[in-house]
Amino acid sequence: MSTPTITDPSPSIWVAADAIDRARPRSRQRQLGASDTACERRSAYKYHGWKPTDLVISPAAMLGTYIHEGLTTAARKEFGWLVEKKVADAAVRGSIDIVQLDRATARQLPRRMRPKVAADENTLEDIKTRTVYRWDETVRYGATAPELRQVMTYARLLNTGGFEDADGQRVLARLGPVRVEKIRLRFICRDNGEEFIQEVPYDPQIAEEAVWWLQRVAETEHPEQARRDFLGPGIDAACDYCPFATACWGSPADGRPVQSNLVHDDEDVAGHLADYVAAHRLWSDADKKKTFARKSVDASEAGRYGANTLGWAGKEKKEQQPDVRAMIELFDTLGAVIPTVPDVDRMVKALMTAGIAVPTRTVVKRTPRRIDVRAARE
Ligand code: SF4
Repeated sequence: MSTPTITDPSPSIWVAADAIDRARPRSRQRQLGASDTACERRSAYKYHGWKPTDLVISPAAMLGTYIHEGLTTAARKEFGWLVEKKVADAAVRGSIDIVQLDRATARQLPRRMRPKVAADENTLEDIKTRTVYRWDETVRYGATAPELRQVMTYARLLNTGGFEDADGQRVLARLGPVRVEKIRLRFICRDNGEEFIQEVPYDPQIAEEAVWWLQRVAETEHPEQARRDFLGPGIDAACDYCPFATACWGSPADGRPVQSNLVHDDEDVAGHLADYVAAHRLWSDADKKKTFARKSVDASEAGRYGANTLGWAGKEKKEQQPDVRAMIELFDTLGAVIPTVPDVDRMVKALMTAGIAVPTRTVVKRTPRRIDVRAARE
């Protein structure tokens, strides 16, 4: 029989994937992109040309990139849609996942560049991937505010300047401004492939908001003048995978969370405690409402009710477990010794009943450090 040999473990394949990802033009660019409108501070680090302080390998983000590439390639080959097209102005640039032209616009292009099925109106599409954990939130609320700023920025750039005059898309650039009427956000669940489409009209107000957002970043003289839009590592995933997390929050001191670096004096502590108390009040009221609603539907059958679907997890399940009483009888019959373990509670009770002091020893126990905030009295 052959014995297994122990070899060095294979390196993680994500190391290779990360190297390829870093070599992409998107990863090297310094000019702000339309997707940089999520965290002002992070955009400011990029804008001021800071080098990343944290090595971030995000397999989830890379899976998203692979899914993008596969789906946009399929859409180009099968539907004749325009994919991965560049747009830019002096302040911002971006790469649009998909543009599906209407018949009138498509007629201005060579036949090979026209969609197999023209759109009713020029449509800009952005593909977003999500984990199953965020799927319900996605179907319920659709795109987030930063995602809407991103797609409206793409649409504004197409509406005003058209496709960028760049290699591989000069013919498209000659179309001039392309009036985009419809935005399609296509969400794909990374875990099971489920698809959800949200269509919204072009919203010039959100596009303007994004322009203003980028202007604010450009007006900063130092990244620290820019606002942190997230609450930091361990709270917001955006910070857990941010290449500027250490520049932004500093290093953890004595194993404490990095958020504690922001506290310098008693006034800071007082401010955070006030936030803590206010947030607790909101949470407590919301939790009571949620518990009331949960108890109210306890007898309801699974099914659709209005805008929501009710389901029940954790059904009754029969399983085989050892029957202790039957086993004791069996051991008795077989004359076998029944194993016993000391029952501390019973021993303590017996000694106390007999009036004998219970022997003790000192054991150091550590309980989790808990915060206790109460109203201060004069
Ligand atoms: S760590 Fe979080 S708050 Fe700081 S720049 Fe990155 S995303 Fe923004």
